[in-house]
Amino acid sequence: MIPIFDGHNDTLVKLYKQGKSKKQNFLNKSTYGHIDLIRAQEGGLIGGIFSINVPNQNINLESASNPRLQFTNNGYEVKMNPPIDHKYAKDFTNSIIQNLYNLEKQANGIIKIIRNYDEITNCITQNKFSIVLHFEGAEAIRKDLKNLENYYDKGLRALGLVWSRPNEFGYGVPFKFPHTPNIGSGLTNYGKNLIKKCNELGIMIDLAHINEKGFMDVAKLSTAPLIVSHTGVFNICKSTRNITDKEIDIIGDSDGLIGIYFDPINLLPSSMPDKNMSLSFIVDHIDYIVQRININHIAFGSDFDGTEMPKLIKDVSYYPNLIDVLKDRGYSKTSLEKIAYKNWLRIFKETWK
Ligand SMILES: [Zn+2]
Repeated sequence: MIPIFDGHNDTLVKLYKQGKSKKQNFLNKSTYGHIDLIRAQEGGLIGGIFSINVPNQNINLESASNPRLQFTNNGYEVKMNPPIDHKYAKDFTNSIIQNLYNLEKQANGIIKIIRNYDEITNCITQNKFSIVLHFEGAEAIRKDLKNLENYYDKGLRALGLVWSRPNEFGYGVPFKFPHTPNIGSGLTNYGKNLIKKCNELGIMIDLAHINEKGFMDVAKLSTAPLIVSHTGVFNICKSTRNITDKEIDIIGDSDGLIGIYFDPINLLPSSMPDKNMSLSFIVDHIDYIVQRININHIAFGSDFDGTEMPKLIKDVSYYPNLIDVLKDRGYSKTSLEKIAYKNWLRIFKETWK
């Protein structure tokens, strides 16, 4: 079985939000959620970037008088999420980090929070499951950056500047189709300082959810390869969350990496939530990147536990289905290994200190 390292999931938040119900316990197999250790082993998953996305408080998603999702004559638009408070973000983030430490402890050496490149290669040879800690949105970071090193010491190795809302550092795209990611202004001065500091510490900067101006600012400033952990190709599905040809080329030039997600709404040309989507649509996005730049810049970034998945890859144990479709489309073993984990390893080697 080909080992798989996945560039994005929201499992930590999902485990936290279920509270005491404990339907999904990471160490036991269940049918709830998309990832646990047993289903990971069944699917070949050896590790992943585990994200902390702090949800907006007090948003009534079901409000009929003031719906967040609005259909337009040729697509949809989701109302922009408002900014969130720093202290709330910090407390939420710290609770999840504590839970992650507890999980690592309970797992008795089977799970490891990764802090450097050697640790991840050792985990692979010793059959241990690797967790790379990531924040999806930098709201827990103080704008003077005084607590960034503290989070680095706690294990933070990958940081998305924004989720789909504005913050002190930059501007995330609202969910909209059809529309380009060119919405809103670029990085703030705080954002520019954050990029420098991440380069200095060796924290991987993630450009998923950022708008086009912010992307270009990071491309100009950052000395590290450019990464988008979970996205799709704008030319195939014209949603704000997907990356344009210009962005793809800049990522290639930086020797960076693009993780492709599995969410039908951001993959299908119609942007419809089709649970019966064929996995060949995922491969269409992968093919596009491979042909436009090359095989060294493409990987998986599923978004498991963060969104609805197609039935054919309804949880992590179904990964072999996707590998089979890639094989059918002519990918060699060497190419498959790059897509499945080796490209992520190269990025970590080049980015971390
Ligand atoms: Zn996301």
